[in-house]
Amino acid sequence: MNDLFNLKGKVALITGGGGVLGSNMAIVLAKQGVITGIMGLTLEEAEATVARVVAVGGEAFAVKSNVLNKEDLEATRDFVMEKYGRLDILINAAGGNMPGATIGPDQAIYDMQLAHLQKVLDLNIIGTMLPSQVFSEIFANQKSGIIINISSASAQRPLSRVVGYSASKAAIDNFTKWMSVELAGKYGEGLRVNAIAPGFFIGEQNRALLLSPEGDLTPRGEKIIEHTPMGRFGVPEDLDGVLLFLCSDMSKFVTGIVVHVDGGFAATSI
Ligand code: NAD
Repeated sequence: MNDLFNLKGKVALITGGGGVLGSNMAIVLAKQGVITGIMGLTLEEAEATVARVVAVGGEAFAVKSNVLNKEDLEATRDFVMEKYGRLDILINAAGGNMPGATIGPDQAIYDMQLAHLQKVLDLNIIGTMLPSQVFSEIFANQKSGIIINISSASAQRPLSRVVGYSASKAAIDNFTKWMSVELAGKYGEGLRVNAIAPGFFIGEQNRALLLSPEGDLTPRGEKIIEHTPMGRFGVPEDLDGVLLFLCSDMSKFVTGIVVHVDGGFAATSI
């Protein structure tokens, strides 16, 4: 049993590692002995997560790496290979919505701004595909490696108003399957690609949508909680078990799936 769980000495890279969910994932993996590479849009945000990992006794390093910049990603890949000689896990946690890409309560699709839509599609789709392309080359050479993508509750049943984000997360589900077939089919069963679809976790991007400044539920927050059989928002630690399952040999014959961690949100229609 312990062997199935064992991740000690593995090397991971986490895009968006300075974010709410990415930083928690770094801590969970580091507690299992994984050397965690925190990729941030800025070095400062990556270093802040490194400090949290070190505080729990883990080993981590920070790199500034924009997921939309292939040169940044290749430089990160070269750095990791020079320093550790291998990479075992890639978590694509950079992503999210942007206010300008959401249709306002009094707006319609005709008010949508192409520039904002494009940014959200790029961040979520290209920002997952490009790191997957750059880093999985290591996996192909090693004949082993794990990719975890981050989908969303809005991927398969789109949330009202959130047009670009929902479409881009649906693309993540599709790409997860596509890439799982590509990698296992060409390079063997050591290469696996899966996704986690978190439900509603309070983060910087959605706090104002779900909670008032006083911390009470907004009308939209109320609707979501009503629609969540477990009756609460997620906390980052709710992802821990699924993350360890997907990163370890516990799931060694599992590839191309999307695991919902959402308190039952996806299971109910009213
Ligand atoms: P977050 O905003 O806290 O973290 C996102 C991180 O991505 C930030 O650190 C940001 O700096 C980084 N980032 C943004 N653009 C980047 C770029 N071009 N290059 C590199 N890094 C970039 O968000 P979060 O809540 O931790 O979400 C993480 C992932 O989980 C996202 O894909 C999000 O869509 C998804 N998700 C979140 C929730 C939720 O409720 N919080 C629910 C479902 C899915």
